[in-house]
Amino acid sequence: MKWGNRNKKYICLESYDFCGRAQQKVPVILHLIMKNRNTVQSKSALISLFKEYLNGNKGFYLFVLVATLFFSVFISPADFLNNPISNGKDLVIILSHWLVVLFATLGFIYLISINKYLFALIFPLFMFLNSVLAFFRYTANVSLTPMLVDASLHNDLRSSLDLVSTNLILYVIIICAVSICLIVFRFKRVKPSFPILHMALSISIIVIFTTCIGAFIRPISERLPYITYFATKKYFDGKEIIHKNRPSISDDAKTTEDSLVVVLVIGEALRPDHLSLNGYQRETTPLLSKAGVISMPNIYSEYTYTDASIPYILSRADSAHPGLAFSEPSFIGFFNNSGYQTTWIANQEPANSFIFFINECKDVVYANMSKNNYNFDLWLDETMLPYVDESLKNQNPKQLLILHTIGSHWWYNSHFTEEFTRYKPIIRSRVISSNTPQEMINSYDNTVLYTDYFVAEVITRLRDKNAILIFQSDHGELLGEGGKWLHAAEGLQLHQPAVFVWMSEKYKLKNHEKFEFLKQNASKRYRSDFLFHSILDAANIQSKNFVKARSIFYNK
Ligand SMILES: [Zn+2]
Repeated sequence: MKWGNRNKKYICLESYDFCGRAQQKVPVILHLIMKNRNTVQSKSALISLFKEYLNGNKGFYLFVLVATLFFSVFISPADFLNNPISNGKDLVIILSHWLVVLFATLGFIYLISINKYLFALIFPLFMFLNSVLAFFRYTANVSLTPMLVDASLHNDLRSSLDLVSTNLILYVIIICAVSICLIVFRFKRVKPSFPILHMALSISIIVIFTTCIGAFIRPISERLPYITYFATKKYFDGKEIIHKNRPSISDDAKTTEDSLVVVLVIGEALRPDHLSLNGYQRETTPLLSKAGVISMPNIYSEYTYTDASIPYILSRADSAHPGLAFSEPSFIGFFNNSGYQTTWIANQEPANSFIFFINECKDVVYANMSKNNYNFDLWLDETMLPYVDESLKNQNPKQLLILHTIGSHWWYNSHFTEEFTRYKPIIRSRVISSNTPQEMINSYDNTVLYTDYFVAEVITRLRDKNAILIFQSDHGELLGEGGKWLHAAEGLQLHQPAVFVWMSEKYKLKNHEKFEFLKQNASKRYRSDFLFHSILDAANIQSKNFVKARSIFYNK
């Protein structure tokens, strides 16, 4: 028993040891063989599945490609015709943008093509809308912007019908006729398999091109077909911001003035050291120098791009309380509550960061509603002048006008006319490195010369009135410092905006102290948040929230 037990135990142990291993080995090998066989089987199954997928969808993919090319050849070029081309690099950039737009469009057409009924419903509407927009881009260089969305939603039908022409009808009919042929073909000849996979793939393409890769978003969002989505979204986002409540800080505002015009010109990327009135060797500001403006060349701008800078300039925000730019209204409410007529005249798109402030004005006018970064034709500040004239005719003798200029924004050549092309040669290529530094500076200086003309024109309209004009650029510009240009990188010159003030003789007589204090303060250092209290002081507005000590028109 004992041995038996031991043997048994031994045998059992042995058997356990041997048999156990054997028993384990067999299933492991079998499992491996089976697994390999399964893998091989699954691999070959996968390959055959893939082949089946490809064979079943060849026609479908060809169809999607043809429909996309139809769009890319007949609609997309509308967005590219005005692009400046001076060399191969420009051509490569344009082609790469066209390809990016093509792939993003392919994602959408691919998605709606999966189901033939969905395709029959959406494709003609899609092509109709885009052919109308492309027609106006081809013929009048009009791009869809949030301002145009707003105008089209508020215009009556008759003014929309005025835009209809025979050429437009012909173009749209041709595009729609081809679209209908594609729908018929989709119904009769195309039968995609694996719809879920197609759905996943097409949505992935759309998401990758329109949201994941930053470099793709702008070329897509400001061009057909996605411009419709992005402009409409921006419009409704802006609407939401406008309707958000910000507690009033100006209920007690009042003024003793009965007749005064206050003009704030918000400049764009104008740096003080390129103004001859600040000692620049080129005579870029002959008219402003003659008009007797007082320049303040030592202003420090906290922010270096428009969207961040403007809320900071207009609101009570300062370096200690930057958040006030997004929680409080601007100084405009103080003017409204003091009986001023307030008007915002814009030559730039309203960004969501300051659309709330624009809407504080009683009247809002957009001078160039159809311009975006890819227009490249003339986009001039003088377009605002007729609106300035109209505003000054208003019966209310107390006026606040805010003019948001395009000034010295890149692409410089769009922002001055032939008459102001004094410094030559000018830039020819949109690739900065393809232009010489001198060409870049020449074009920039021509924008300064044009701004000199534009602001002088505004001053001419104010000369006989009790009026004050404050010009404040939103930020500066890099002109080759450290090899950097525009506002693509960080640099000292970006924090230096041009600022100057003009007062009419009537204003000087009535506000002699302010004129003297301004002269005393002109070379002092201020942050760009000086404007809030200074403009209230300029308009002689009183309120518990007004701090006279922070005004450039006051000296303790
Ligand atoms: Zn700017």
